Amino acid sequence: MNALQHLLAGVLAGAVALVLLGEPFTLPAAAVIAMGALLPDADHHKTRMFQAVSLAIGIGAFFLSKPVMQQRFGEFNGGIASLCIGLAGTALFRLLKPKHRGITHTVFAAALYAAITCFLSTPQLALAGFAAYASHLVADGHVKMI
Ligand SMILES: [Zn+2]
Repeated sequence: MNALQHLLAGVLAGAVALVLLGEPFTLPAAAVIAMGALLPDADHHKTRMFQAVSLAIGIGAFFLSKPVMQQRFGEFNGGIASLCIGLAGTALFRLLKPKHRGITHTVFAAALYAAITCFLSTPQLALAGFAAYASHLVADGHVKMI
Protein backbone atom coordinates (compact mmCIF):
# COMPACT_ATOMS: atom_id res chain seq x y z
CA MET A 1 0.00 0.00 0.00
CA ASN A 2 1.10 3.55 -0.55
CA ALA A 3 1.17 6.33 2.04
CA LEU A 4 -2.26 7.73 1.16
CA GLN A 5 -3.90 4.33 1.48
CA HIS A 6 -2.15 3.73 4.82
CA LEU A 7 -3.26 7.18 5.96
CA LEU A 8 -6.89 6.53 5.02
CA ALA A 9 -6.88 3.12 6.73
CA GLY A 10 -5.24 4.65 9.81
CA VAL A 11 -7.74 7.51 10.00
CA LEU A 12 -10.59 5.02 9.75
CA ALA A 13 -9.14 2.77 12.48
CA GLY A 14 -8.22 5.71 14.71
CA ALA A 15 -11.63 7.36 14.25
CA VAL A 16 -13.40 4.12 15.15
CA ALA A 17 -11.25 3.88 18.29
CA LEU A 18 -12.09 7.48 19.22
CA VAL A 19 -15.83 6.89 18.70
CA LEU A 20 -15.70 3.73 20.82
CA LEU A 21 -13.88 5.67 23.54
CA GLY A 22 -16.30 8.62 23.31
CA GLU A 23 -13.50 11.02 22.39
CA PRO A 24 -13.75 13.86 19.85
CA PHE A 25 -11.66 13.86 16.66
CA THR A 26 -9.39 16.81 17.48
CA LEU A 27 -6.29 18.15 15.74
CA PRO A 28 -3.93 16.43 18.22
CA ALA A 29 -5.86 13.19 17.69
CA ALA A 30 -5.52 13.60 13.92
CA ALA A 31 -1.77 14.14 14.30
CA VAL A 32 -1.35 11.07 16.52
CA ILE A 33 -3.42 8.95 14.14
CA ALA A 34 -1.61 10.18 11.02
CA MET A 35 1.76 9.57 12.65
CA GLY A 36 0.70 6.10 13.76
CA ALA A 37 -0.54 5.23 10.30
CA LEU A 38 2.67 6.29 8.56
CA LEU A 39 5.43 5.74 11.14
CA PRO A 40 5.96 2.02 10.39
CA ASP A 41 7.37 2.93 6.97
CA ALA A 42 10.12 5.06 8.52
CA ASP A 43 12.28 2.04 7.74
CA HIS A 44 12.01 2.54 3.97
CA HIS A 45 14.42 5.06 2.45
CA LYS A 46 11.99 6.12 -0.29
CA THR A 47 9.21 7.25 2.07
CA ARG A 48 8.61 10.77 3.33
CA MET A 49 8.39 9.36 6.85
CA PHE A 50 11.99 8.11 6.54
CA GLN A 51 13.08 11.58 5.44
CA ALA A 52 11.08 13.21 8.25
CA VAL A 53 12.41 10.87 10.94
CA SER A 54 16.04 11.24 9.83
CA LEU A 55 15.63 15.04 9.78
CA ALA A 56 13.92 15.01 13.19
CA ILE A 57 16.76 12.95 14.66
CA GLY A 58 19.31 15.43 13.35
CA ILE A 59 17.38 18.45 14.62
CA GLY A 60 16.77 16.76 17.96
CA ALA A 61 20.44 15.85 18.37
CA PHE A 62 21.41 19.43 17.49
CA PHE A 63 19.09 21.05 20.02
CA LEU A 64 19.74 18.49 22.77
CA SER A 65 23.51 18.81 22.48
CA LYS A 66 23.68 22.58 21.91
CA PRO A 67 23.50 23.78 25.56
CA VAL A 68 26.16 21.29 26.66
CA MET A 69 28.44 21.94 23.70
CA GLN A 70 28.15 25.73 24.03
CA GLN A 71 28.89 25.57 27.74
CA ARG A 72 31.94 23.43 27.08
CA PHE A 73 33.34 24.98 23.86
CA GLY A 74 31.86 28.49 23.75
CA GLU A 75 28.94 29.85 21.75
CA PHE A 76 30.34 29.62 18.22
CA ASN A 77 32.45 26.45 18.52
CA GLY A 78 29.71 24.77 20.58
CA GLY A 79 27.19 25.59 17.86
CA ILE A 80 29.46 24.05 15.23
CA ALA A 81 29.97 20.97 17.44
CA SER A 82 26.20 20.64 17.87
CA LEU A 83 25.71 20.96 14.13
CA CYS A 84 28.21 18.13 13.63
CA ILE A 85 26.38 16.02 16.22
CA GLY A 86 23.07 16.67 14.46
CA LEU A 87 24.51 15.71 11.08
CA ALA A 88 26.11 12.64 12.63
CA GLY A 89 22.75 11.65 14.16
CA THR A 90 21.04 11.87 10.79
CA ALA A 91 23.85 9.97 9.06
CA LEU A 92 23.83 7.29 11.75
CA PHE A 93 20.08 6.76 11.40
CA ARG A 94 20.45 6.47 7.63
CA LEU A 95 23.30 3.96 8.00
CA LEU A 96 21.71 1.87 10.74
CA LYS A 97 18.09 2.03 9.61
CA PRO A 98 16.27 -1.22 10.29
CA LYS A 99 15.37 -3.46 7.38
CA HIS A 100 12.06 -2.73 5.70
CA ARG A 101 9.09 -4.38 7.42
CA GLY A 102 11.30 -5.39 10.32
CA ILE A 103 11.05 -4.06 13.87
CA THR A 104 8.84 -1.10 12.87
CA HIS A 105 6.22 -3.52 11.51
CA THR A 106 5.61 -5.36 14.80
CA VAL A 107 2.99 -5.24 17.53
CA PHE A 108 5.86 -4.37 19.88
CA ALA A 109 6.56 -1.18 17.89
CA ALA A 110 2.83 -0.33 17.89
CA ALA A 111 2.71 -0.81 21.67
CA LEU A 112 5.84 1.31 22.09
CA TYR A 113 4.25 4.07 19.98
CA ALA A 114 1.13 3.87 22.15
CA ALA A 115 3.19 3.98 25.36
CA ILE A 116 5.09 7.06 24.21
CA THR A 117 1.84 8.71 23.09
CA CYS A 118 0.24 7.88 26.44
CA PHE A 119 3.20 9.42 28.26
CA LEU A 120 2.97 12.60 26.15
CA SER A 121 -0.82 12.94 25.98
CA THR A 122 -3.75 10.76 27.09
CA PRO A 123 -4.54 7.02 27.15
CA GLN A 124 -7.43 7.64 24.72
CA LEU A 125 -5.13 9.19 22.14
CA ALA A 126 -2.65 6.39 22.73
CA LEU A 127 -5.31 3.78 21.91
CA ALA A 128 -6.32 5.69 18.78
CA GLY A 129 -2.66 5.87 17.76
CA PHE A 130 -2.27 2.16 18.43
CA ALA A 131 -5.30 1.43 16.23
CA ALA A 132 -3.86 3.53 13.41
CA TYR A 133 -0.44 1.90 13.75
CA ALA A 134 -2.00 -1.57 13.85
CA SER A 135 -4.05 -0.78 10.74
CA HIS A 136 -0.77 -0.24 8.88
CA LEU A 137 0.50 -3.65 9.97
CA VAL A 138 -2.74 -5.37 8.94
CA ALA A 139 -2.82 -3.54 5.59
CA ASP A 140 0.76 -4.61 4.87
CA GLY A 141 -0.02 -8.16 5.95
CA HIS A 142 2.99 -8.12 8.29
CA VAL A 143 1.60 -8.54 11.79
CA LYS A 144 4.49 -9.87 13.86
CA MET A 145 4.77 -9.71 17.63
CA ILE A 146 8.50 -8.87 17.76
ZN1 LIG B 1 4.60 -0.67 5.80
